[in-house]
Amino acid sequence: MIKKIAHIGIAVRNLEEAQSLYRNLLDLVPSHTEHVEDQKVDVSSFHVGETNIELTSGTSDESPITKFIAKRGEGMHHIAFEVDDIHAELLRLKSLGVTLIDEEPRTGADDCLVAFIHPKSTGGVLVELSQKR
Ligand code: ZN
Repeated sequence: MIKKIAHIGIAVRNLEEAQSLYRNLLDLVPSHTEHVEDQKVDVSSFHVGETNIELTSGTSDESPITKFIAKRGEGMHHIAFEVDDIHAELLRLKSLGVTLIDEEPRTGADDCLVAFIHPKSTGGVLVELSQKR
């Protein structure tokens, strides 16, 4: 079951510059910043009400974020939905014929279990499922 929008991911070239931009824009300070080695990204989150804005920059040419920016430029990257049971959701979506990028969840930011759904199955939007541990 989907519980809420966990975060909106925004791809940025320079995390420090984006942080100061969003500090001014939202009049908030980042709630946390971390490096996610699995996805080769640095992430900085701002709590906005019940959800979060997640600024994400690549730390290597192999990072999906670096590749995304090279192809499409900076901007909205994905929407993450918080689910109560990510394994059950992946099975449910698979049974509907939805194309998954991750058949098995992996560790994402904030030590959540995450899995991505291919934009070709979602009308062009990269969707992330996220479950708190
Ligand atoms: Zn995300």
